[in-house]
Amino acid sequence: MGTETAVIIQKIPLSQTGARDRLIWLGSKNGSYSVKSGYHFLKNMQDNSQGQSSNEMQLQERWTCCWQFKIPQAAKVFMWRVCLEALPTRVNLHKRKILKSPMCPICLSEEETVEHALWSCKSAMDVWSQGPIAIHKSSDRAEKFKDIFEKLGAKCEQQAMEFFTITARNIWHRRNRLIFEGFLKINWNAAICEENGIIGLGLIARDQGGHVVGTKKITQAGFNDPLLAEAIGAYQAGAYQAVKMAMEMGNVCVLFEGDSSQVVKGIYSQVERWDRVGMIITDIRLQLTFFTSWKFLFIRRSGNTLAHNLAKSSLNEESVVTALLLESSHVNSDV
Ligand SMILES: [Zn+2]
Repeated sequence: MGTETAVIIQKIPLSQTGARDRLIWLGSKNGSYSVKSGYHFLKNMQDNSQGQSSNEMQLQERWTCCWQFKIPQAAKVFMWRVCLEALPTRVNLHKRKILKSPMCPICLSEEETVEHALWSCKSAMDVWSQGPIAIHKSSDRAEKFKDIFEKLGAKCEQQAMEFFTITARNIWHRRNRLIFEGFLKINWNAAICEENGIIGLGLIARDQGGHVVGTKKITQAGFNDPLLAEAIGAYQAGAYQAVKMAMEMGNVCVLFEGDSSQVVKGIYSQVERWDRVGMIITDIRLQLTFFTSWKFLFIRRSGNTLAHNLAKSSLNEESVVTALLLESSHVNSDV
């Protein structure tokens, strides 16, 4: 199995109820294979590759040489994400309607593309000017960082390119430390509608200034079991997009706050439990391993009103998933 495949596999979300794995066919809506859907899938693939110039395809292959580098795996994955333009830069978060401004948070004078953050921003240039002459003499500007990587790759030794990759990653980490160091707090709460057999979950994310940066309501089928509902709520808090964003955006500790002391205790307990809740708690623990720093905290119901209201109101809507994430949105959050 190639590294690229492994990375994709790692991204597949795990079941929160411990459901068995099963093979599905993405070419059809219901997940099962038919000859007709197979034909369309192949035809699409062919059409897409014909639309691509051979030159483009050659270039695409060139940057993948980074998988051969003798550097830590995380640095290779970093370069892979960079070349696919998949870093959460201001421009990318702006495109996804998560941030209002695409401007570079360091120099404030240009839009923060991947290329800008890692190469042409003054702060990045200062770093590159200390490096090997072949790299800092290259004052090339390109739209994509991938193009710079490939141009340098054509004239530099592998060792220099390994250095280049590590340095780019350090520049990104330094940028993250500069722009955000603090914590993000997610409150969760669950409500149950016994009649309809559904549970409603409310999530609310606040930055360390107490400003609400996002909310989410989820409705899903569930048992009339408050503890189970709370555990699912805690799991959803960990899976919340706002948490992932925050982790990507900077050096952030995530605090999870809920009014179920049993769930909070369960997270820290060393004893493995085999009931329905135990399975979800195991899933939550697994999820937490992706965070550099986290804490689960118990809060009284009276301090968790906003999450509680969100959970209750989601029971009145049909399979709701509403999410909002705004930069420095000063929503009244005195509850
Ligand atoms: Zn800049």
